[in-house]
Amino acid sequence: MSAENTAVYDFDLITIGAGSGGVAASRYAAAQGVRVAICEADRVGGTCVIRGCIPKKIFMYAAQFAESFADAPAYGWAAATHAFEMERLTGAKNAETERLEGIYRRMLSSSGVRLFAGRAQVADAHTVVVDGQRLSAGRILVATGAATARPPIPGIELALTSTELLDLRELPHRLLVLGSGYIALEFASIFRGLGSEVSLAFRAEAPLRGFDQDLRTRSATALRERGIDLRPGFKFARLERQAGGIVCHGADGQAVEADVVLNAMGRLPNSAGLGLEALGVKLDPGSGAVCVDAYSRSSVDSIFAVGDVTDRLALTPVAIAEGRAFVDTEFRGKPRRIDHSTVASAVFCLPPVACIGLTEAAARERGLRTTVFEADFRPMKNVISGRADRSYMKLVVDAASDRVLGVHMLGVDAPEIVQSLAVAVTMGATKQQFDATMAMHPTAAEEFMLMRTPRA
Ligand code: NDP
Repeated sequence: MSAENTAVYDFDLITIGAGSGGVAASRYAAAQGVRVAICEADRVGGTCVIRGCIPKKIFMYAAQFAESFADAPAYGWAAATHAFEMERLTGAKNAETERLEGIYRRMLSSSGVRLFAGRAQVADAHTVVVDGQRLSAGRILVATGAATARPPIPGIELALTSTELLDLRELPHRLLVLGSGYIALEFASIFRGLGSEVSLAFRAEAPLRGFDQDLRTRSATALRERGIDLRPGFKFARLERQAGGIVCHGADGQAVEADVVLNAMGRLPNSAGLGLEALGVKLDPGSGAVCVDAYSRSSVDSIFAVGDVTDRLALTPVAIAEGRAFVDTEFRGKPRRIDHSTVASAVFCLPPVACIGLTEAAARERGLRTTVFEADFRPMKNVISGRADRSYMKLVVDAASDRVLGVHMLGVDAPEIVQSLAVAVTMGATKQQFDATMAMHPTAAEEFMLMRTPRA
């Protein structure tokens, strides 16, 4: 730790935002003997714990029961009727997020991090004002996350955010989801599973822009098979409240009516109102993201930023890794940067999608000659139940080096399978090493070891 941090300031580090990135950086810094304060305007735990990954997954588990109930008779179970109560699910979710928030608070205090409740503002390069209190520090870390974007569509304020959907007391009869990214597909699948009629309106031709084209087309098919009404190429004109519900009008005259509309059209960094621009911290003119270098340094020497507010890769483990790398660099004299190029990610729609590495198109854009291996099959469980869902797996291999550049999967357990294969891909495994790995039978994952013939 450099001398500038020692006695002159109240703290060595003030973190703004007690979400995944902020808490990880603060606790890790405190464990090195750094004097840390953390400010939080809302609940401790941030998007992931309070209104994102964790509650979303609880809802997804709830939605999956519908499939089990439907498939059970084919396996010998007598058919039964099942009633779903939204309020009980929301209550269970609230209890779990409260439990986790308590754990986060205890972890902060047991690591010696001082928590200040309130909205923080950066007054100068070393001073933060929170709840009327002025705190000074050698370094300030901005970890304020992101929030739902509101594209300028007339009537967009009628649409709820994913946070509000997680607090519904009643299941909407008809849900319209705007967008076709992570949040859109996850919430469309969840509410369809819970029993809502769901429409998904989006501007692209296929959902999940940026994912491998073979996953995008198959994902659209799978969503349709589950009874979700897909409206690709939808040009949003306006939303309005009418007697029957909220109507979303397209520029071409089509209209979709629903009881609840979800705005899932992306998220924007929470950088406004912090006083950053006045201090000369460079923000991205389009998104408002705090511009940082590979070591999470902003354009002002003592101010740093990690996580969604930097708009690099908006994923919890990435924010945590960036926070810890910042501490290594700034307080442990061990400069470390995060490699954002090989990060596995999953969309927890039903069936889920997961991938790591390059898509076939991205590999081609880089001028790489690729060999593609794929498997498309009906999972064993569905053969008995008669469910139409298929699983799809794809390996994108560099023809010159035999290195596996990308692993892509749609189907049951895709996130668990791809997370494990991420070790091999990160290590630079070759297709021949995949082939040399003994399969585990009968599993779905074994298909990744048994792909012998490249696609023509
Ligand atoms: P995404 O970027 O995934 O999707 C945004 C969607 O909104 C896209 O379909 C996009 O369309 C559409 N859109 C954006 N602007 C407009 C516009 N002006 N008019 C019409 N459509 C528009 O954002 P999400 O909010 O779903 O998620 C934000 C981030 O949070 C993700 O990128 C991900 O990093 C993270 N996340 C991760 C999860 C996970 O790990 N499972 C779960 C949830 C979120 P188009 O495709 O045409 O650009």
